[in-house]
This record gives sequence, structure tokens and C-alpha cells, in this order.
Amino acid sequence: MSYIDVMNESKFYGEGDTQIAANDKVSFSIAENEFAIIVGPSGAGKSTLLNILGGMDTPDEGQILIDGTDIAQFNEKQLTNYRREDIGFIFQNYNLIPNLTTLENVEMAAELVDHPLNPEEVVEAVGLGHRINNFPAQLSGGEQQRVAIARALVKKPKLLLCDEPTGALDYQTGKQVLSLLYQSKELYNATVLVITHNRALTPMADRVIDISDAKVLTNEYNEHPTPIA
Ligand code: ADP
Ligand code: ADP
Repeated sequence: MSYIDVMNESKFYGEGDTQIAANDKVSFSIAENEFAIIVGPSGAGKSTLLNILGGMDTPDEGQILIDGTDIAQFNEKQLTNYRREDIGFIFQNYNLIPNLTTLENVEMAAELVDHPLNPEEVVEAVGLGHRINNFPAQLSGGEQQRVAIARALVKKPKLLLCDEPTGALDYQTGKQVLSLLYQSKELYNATVLVITHNRALTPMADRVIDISDAKVLTNEYNEHPTPIA
């Protein structure tokens, strides 16, 4: 058993002749403390899968075992709990609260859980000590994404789910954000899953899962992940 075992998961949209399988008998495993990338073109089914892994949506078929528990069987209350306690989310567009400072954004996330990390320490750890009292509009894109990472990490999540985390950033800044995510897995012992259409990112991952047209093509462990050039 791995930390994540997705078994024959399917998700359909629409009905009858126009029904679309967004995920079609998807199976893969990710070990605890791995940095995994799910890569595939637009429309492949990546976001559908990420939403299901994050407890924001439920599959039509199959099992989603997280640490041995099938979250596909969870009721709304269990899903809410799972999202709050176990998952850190990072999005392409940061989703920060504009009228709260860096520290306040992170503190708000810390309040959701019983045993958060110290918000100031996490802000320091992501390299934003000098922006701790600034508002999102005063920060660069790379800095805003660092706040979003701090906000996710302060909950000490077991699983960090990242939806195109570098999609809105220039190449160099994106590289720094990815390297911060990689460090996060090492510092905070999280399992990290990134979805992206950008194949250039895959050499840095411990595991690369290739999906296309709703199906998993390959799932490969990479013994020697290398920082992207
Ligand atoms: P990706 O993230 O790889 O771009 P998605 O998971 O967003 O792929 O979408 C996979 C397929 O499922 C697409 O063909 C899309 O049109 C369809 N789809 C996704 N979400 C919905 C939805 N809420 N309603 C209808 N169809 C959807
Ligand atoms: P990064 O490499 O993190 O994207 P930049 O070189 O773009 O950083 O930004 C350097 C500094 O300029 C940042 O510390 C930030 O305070 C300021 N800055 C950059 N972009 C903006 C912006 N759109 N609005 C306000 N301040 C900005």
C-alpha cells in the first residue's frame, strides 16, 4: 500500500450520447513524501483528478485510497474535515485575500487546524520575512505564490496539491517556486502533487504520471530527480 492508491477511478460529465469521461479507469500510486507530477495536455483530466484527490469532488467509480482510507466513500462532513486537516492547496492564481497582509493570510489558514506551525516562522521559511506586513497587491507574482505556499504549509498538511503553480509566472520565478515546493516536501515531510501541462518540469519530480485523453499512459519513478535548468 502506498500513501495514495487510485484504483480504477472514473468520472463522467453529461449524459447519454454526449457523455464525456474526464477520467477513465485511472489507476496509479504515489508513495509518502514523494514529489509527483501529473503531466498531460489541456483536457486530459488533470484538474478533475486533483479535485477528487483534494476531496472537492467525488468519482463516479473506483477507489481513492489515502493512507489506506477510501475517501470516495466519505460523506460531506468527512470530506470537509479531510480538506481542512490533511490537504494544502496551491493554485495558479494564488487566491490570496487582498485586504489581508502576508502574515494575516497565513494566520487565517493556521486557525483552521488544531496544531498549526508558527505563521511567522513559515513566512520566514518561504523567504518573505521582508514582506510580512505587505498586502498581496504590493507583491510580485513570485512573492504572492510564496504566500500561497506558506498558507498551505502552515497547516502542516500531509498532502500538498498544486494546480499549475507556475502557470502565471515567468520561467526563472517559476523555477524558484518549484524549488521551494521541493524543499517543502523535505522540510515539512509532505507528499507533493503538482499538475501541469508543462513537460519541461518533469525531470525535477520523484515520480511522473503521464495522462492523456482521460487515461494514465505511464507512471514512472525517477531515482535521480534533477533541478530544472
Ligand atoms: P485538464 O485539467 O487536464 O485540462 P479537466 O479535468 O479540466 O482537464 O477536463 C477533462 C475533461 O472533462 C474535458 O474534456 C472537460 O471538457 C471535461 N470537464 C471538466 N469539468 C467539467 C464540468 N464541470 N462539466 C462538464 N465537463 C467537464
Ligand atoms: P519576482 O522575481 O519574485 O517576480 P520581481 O523582480 O518581479 O520579483 O519584483 C521585485 C520587487 O518589485 C518585488 O519585491 C515587489 O515588491 C515589487 N513588484 C513587482 N511586481 C509588482 C507589482 N505588480 N506590483 C507591485 N509591486 C511589484
